[in-house]
Amino acid sequence: MTTLETTRLTTESLSQTEERLRTRPAEHRVVTGDRPTGPLHLGHYIGTLANRVRLQNLGIPVTVIIADFQVITDRADTGPLRDRVRTLIAEYLAAGIDPERSVIFAHSGVPALNQLLLPFLSLVTDAELHRNPTVKAESLASRRSLSALLLTYPVHQAADILGLHGDVVPVGKDQLPHIELARVIARRFNGRYGRVFAEPEALLTTTPAVLGADGAKMSKTRGNTILLGAGEDETSAVIRSARTDSLRHITFDPVTRPQIANLLSIVAALTGRSPLEVAQEIGSGGAAVLKARTAEVINESLRDLRRRRRDLLADPAYLDGVLLDGTARAMEVAAGTLDQVRRAMDMDYFRGPRG
Ligand code: ATP
Ligand code: MG
Repeated sequence: MTTLETTRLTTESLSQTEERLRTRPAEHRVVTGDRPTGPLHLGHYIGTLANRVRLQNLGIPVTVIIADFQVITDRADTGPLRDRVRTLIAEYLAAGIDPERSVIFAHSGVPALNQLLLPFLSLVTDAELHRNPTVKAESLASRRSLSALLLTYPVHQAADILGLHGDVVPVGKDQLPHIELARVIARRFNGRYGRVFAEPEALLTTTPAVLGADGAKMSKTRGNTILLGAGEDETSAVIRSARTDSLRHITFDPVTRPQIANLLSIVAALTGRSPLEVAQEIGSGGAAVLKARTAEVINESLRDLRRRRRDLLADPAYLDGVLLDGTARAMEVAAGTLDQVRRAMDMDYFRGPRG
């Protein structure tokens, strides 16, 4: 299984984007990231991580943001943050992110990105922020009242993406409203002050929303995950416990049989085949055969990653070094963007008269 096989893009516009990325990789910049709210799961791997590695290997510069300030959008307790950040780095590297070619950094280490928040906040209305369906869902799930930080989450994310000049953002489906807002902000900024930003495009995979064992979106916070770092027996047990339905024959029907479709899509994504093909192959074998096959494919696909992950976690000093180096590189890019923004806004007076 190659990471290339894990992502098959379907729609016309996606294949056009893909063509552009392949022919002119150096003209693009991939920027994406995760919150350090816990270790990564299969949804991350299939939804975005494998895609990041694939894009890196096409020759596109990749920047991965560890969105540490965003941990406190929906909770007061940050948890064992230091360990979680190290674990994320180990997982990125184990999946194939190469720290020589790609940048991994934590956004709390790059203050210039936060500076962009102020002009960006002036470009959106509170009604637009309140309409965001992902923010609404996360606010409901947190069972707390909506914090101003959660409400403005998509704006900080826009500051991260645009501040690093990202134009391609490989993400899961829940991120689409946020990326749309980043496009709006780029457009409005350019319209008001002159062109500084490219409008970033979201890049989905064919499995943009992997479900967990309970049938809801697989998510760290819900605790319904198959962790990249889980053992093989544990993985098989979670898959065995996944909800299915009472129909014997396996068919691929995401609307009426979402849980079965989810297992088929996982197998398909990890083996580079179509879910329909996998459904036909299993057919009358039923849910038990489908589950056994799914567990086997996940464990085989993640075996090397899991071994590398374990080895990397044994060397925290190395992981810290990767973060330090990545943060220094991100600072340089973000400082350049902030200069451009100040110049565009006519706020570069403290640098002396323009030449
Ligand atoms: P949390 O529950 O703490 O929000 P999460 O599991 O939703 O964690 P994030 O850090 O919010 O993970 O998401 C990181 C990236 O992974 C985003 O691009 C997101 O779209 C993608 N992603 C997360 N979960 C899934 C999933 N189940 N299927 C596909 N992509 C996913
Ligand atoms: Mg999330």
